Amino acid sequence: MLKYVYLFDEGNASMKNLLGGKGANLAEMTGLGLPVPRGFTVTTEACTKYYKDGELICEDVKEEIFEALAKTEKVVGKKFGNPNNPFLVSVRSGARASMPGMMDTILNLGLNDTVVKGLAKLTGNERFAYDSYRRLIQMFSDVVMGIEKSKFDKILQEIKKENKVSDDADLTADNLKEIVRRYKELYKAEKKNEFPQEPQVQLMEAITAVFRSWDNPRAIVYRRLNDIPGDWGTAVNVQEMVYGNMGNDSGTGVAFTRDPSTGEKKLYGEFLMNAQGEDVVAGIRTPQPIDQLREINQDAYNEFINIADRLENHYRDMQDMEFTIEKGKLFILQTRSGKRTASAALQIAVDLIEEGMINKEEAILKVDPRQLDSLLHPNFEPKALKDAKVVAKGLPASPGAATGKVYFTADDAAEASKNGEKFIILVRLETSPEDIEGMHASQGILTARGGMTSHAAVVARGMGRCCVAGCGEIIINEEQKYFLDKYENRYNEGDWISLDGSTGSVYGEKLPTIEPEVTGNFATFMKWADEIRTLGVRANADTPNDAAAALQFGAEGIGLCRTEHMFFEPDRIAAMREMIVSSNVEQRKKALNKLLPMQRSDFEGIFENMQGYPVTIRLLDPPLHEFLPQEEEDIRTLAKEMEISYEKLKGVIVGLHEFNPMMGHRGCRLAVSYPEIAEMQTRAIIEAAINVNKKGMSVMPEIMIPLVGEIKELKYVKDICVNTAEQVIKEAGVPLKYLVGTMLEIPRAAITADEIAEEAEFFSFGTNDLTQMAFGFSRDDASKFLEEYYNKKIYEFDPFVKLDQKGVGKLVEMGVKLGKQTRPDIKLGICGEHGGDPSSVEFFHKVGLNYVSCSPYRVPIARLAAAQAAINTKGDAGQK
Ligand code: PEP
Ligand code: MG
Repeated sequence: MLKYVYLFDEGNASMKNLLGGKGANLAEMTGLGLPVPRGFTVTTEACTKYYKDGELICEDVKEEIFEALAKTEKVVGKKFGNPNNPFLVSVRSGARASMPGMMDTILNLGLNDTVVKGLAKLTGNERFAYDSYRRLIQMFSDVVMGIEKSKFDKILQEIKKENKVSDDADLTADNLKEIVRRYKELYKAEKKNEFPQEPQVQLMEAITAVFRSWDNPRAIVYRRLNDIPGDWGTAVNVQEMVYGNMGNDSGTGVAFTRDPSTGEKKLYGEFLMNAQGEDVVAGIRTPQPIDQLREINQDAYNEFINIADRLENHYRDMQDMEFTIEKGKLFILQTRSGKRTASAALQIAVDLIEEGMINKEEAILKVDPRQLDSLLHPNFEPKALKDAKVVAKGLPASPGAATGKVYFTADDAAEASKNGEKFIILVRLETSPEDIEGMHASQGILTARGGMTSHAAVVARGMGRCCVAGCGEIIINEEQKYFLDKYENRYNEGDWISLDGSTGSVYGEKLPTIEPEVTGNFATFMKWADEIRTLGVRANADTPNDAAAALQFGAEGIGLCRTEHMFFEPDRIAAMREMIVSSNVEQRKKALNKLLPMQRSDFEGIFENMQGYPVTIRLLDPPLHEFLPQEEEDIRTLAKEMEISYEKLKGVIVGLHEFNPMMGHRGCRLAVSYPEIAEMQTRAIIEAAINVNKKGMSVMPEIMIPLVGEIKELKYVKDICVNTAEQVIKEAGVPLKYLVGTMLEIPRAAITADEIAEEAEFFSFGTNDLTQMAFGFSRDDASKFLEEYYNKKIYEFDPFVKLDQKGVGKLVEMGVKLGKQTRPDIKLGICGEHGGDPSSVEFFHKVGLNYVSCSPYRVPIARLAAAQAAINTKGDAGQK
């Protein structure tokens, strides 16, 4: 039979999956003989069973809980519900991964109208007994019964006012009795029932509430952001209460063994005398720095320092501990690996190695790759952020903090920048490739529509711009140039707002930002990651500037150069449009000839900046309508500029209209219709490579054909590329090696990858389109309904962010296996947005890809994730 409840002395640190982080550490500390109040842990398996059983705790588990309670009572020599010798407990959540503040805690369980009197008598401290009781009623009502906390706070404030008391600690026993009376009255008014007097009922209700809190909305969001699966469940820890509010010889506090913001090796903590834990967190009273405890209780201080040292040495990591001093005696209530800023994480990892505590591999595993983001982007000043109000929330599409004045068109943003404006936020319903210049001119981008792989998100990440996308809570009127936040506040052009691209929060005000600080530890740490990883890391970069940035972040090549972005530059768009409206091949070739030198010089810039690393250049991919205006007025202006009739231009635009452009005339289909486009692009690539090689570098370009689903279409386009390339090489009279390969982004291509590999010299998985087509929902629109899917637990994660390993992953595995079957040395990469997502990177490592490619700013994340994957799957596939 499965065991669902463990006494603290039955477990240890290795049982984290079963006992949760907190439970496992309480058990470990008990085993080490530290002063831990006694108790037991109800396992995470009991939580998953609770959900399986329809949100019910079954009789077997209940029985085990009461058995463990009875055993604990025996050890501590107290009894639940006995007024003469009461046993009181805390009930706390504790999942496998720490989720601070996401789930619930209830203290002082076991008190009722009679027990409180007994406790007062026993301790000779009536004030303490009623203070504990009022805390229980309030917490129980809030956490278990869902009665708003503010209603209790109101009563507390009233009584403080009536008695002219400003500090909670100055409330008398009589004041507290009155608070208890009014709290119970409120409880009855709200619940039409008395506050439960039976301690066993309190306990079971509290455990149920903690299980329930696993699925509260903030926990669901936290899990999604932190890659924590919903089926892990939380454990519940039931522990003997010790009291920091027993008088001035008692207190409570938290401490870190190292500074969590800088990593400095120095005990860092705070405490409050005569208080319970939540007082420290709530900030009603200002806590004292830990050093001052020495003056109040030298013995407890020394003991604590010793224990802190011992715990850090034992766990070989910086610890975050909670302690309580009850009548002069020290108790440790919790220890865990402390949360820390990214720079502290690096400092600690480097220091722990120097101190001989851990080796490089252990150090690599200690840093969360996603955290590195904050080292590369600006952040808001923490104090200002704390006081700021979130006026809308969207998707955290590209990290960083931005503050600026709003502009509603890309042209306006670009214009403002030219006029010297330094703080610009571009607010759009959605962005299109045409907006690129305005996006570049902005510090941040806010869109009402679009998901994590929408145009705005992809481009912003590439540029390192902060972006909040799919923010349905705002209403934008682009024509009249204003938007409303969720409180219906209006923002006109030039008004200040701030965006947090790491959380998706929008603030309706100017907030101060701080620049990231990159320390020498970063370079040291990344060097270790590079030594360990076997998976290559390239970047998606479209311009010579992006390529230079990518190299700086440690990219070992370009995995995807989306050539279409080059065509939107103001000096190129005219030729591009001329090409699109051409009525015959001659006209089209004429226009393409204008584009050729521009493309060639871009490619030369990229090749030069990449200093011999491989560069994969993709042929034109998006549907042609994206290059033409849609608004009537803009069409008229453009027709005039192009010296053609309005009717002709309008006719072309109408002709290009598609009901579903993402599945329309795009990718290699363009090259099938207009081979001259592929010819021009191939010529530009090969000529650029030859020119750069002449300067003494060694460039081997990789030409990539997008959106292939059928071997014959690949062959058709490949032949155009090869014939053109060979001709250019012949003309130049110098040898050049090049590869022609394909994106694998249509499910049919993955399924027939053995055939595709007959022509393709490399595959690059386009997991954005592959996800879109495997799920059958649009990468631009899915965010509109995915929220409901998360709330209803149908999906836990956005499949455009974290690879769906079960479905889309299977297509990738199939592509790898079949591709290698035909061409054992085939080069395999991935260039969808998943290339910068740590758990997806681990998957790509496991299935044996050669490299991942992601936006330049995510390159360090991918490098670290790849190193962690190598450590976690030692001996598996994956090679540079
Ligand atoms: C993809 O589909 O994954 C990809 C990289 O191409 P794009 O995002 O340009 O469609
Ligand atoms: Mg694609």
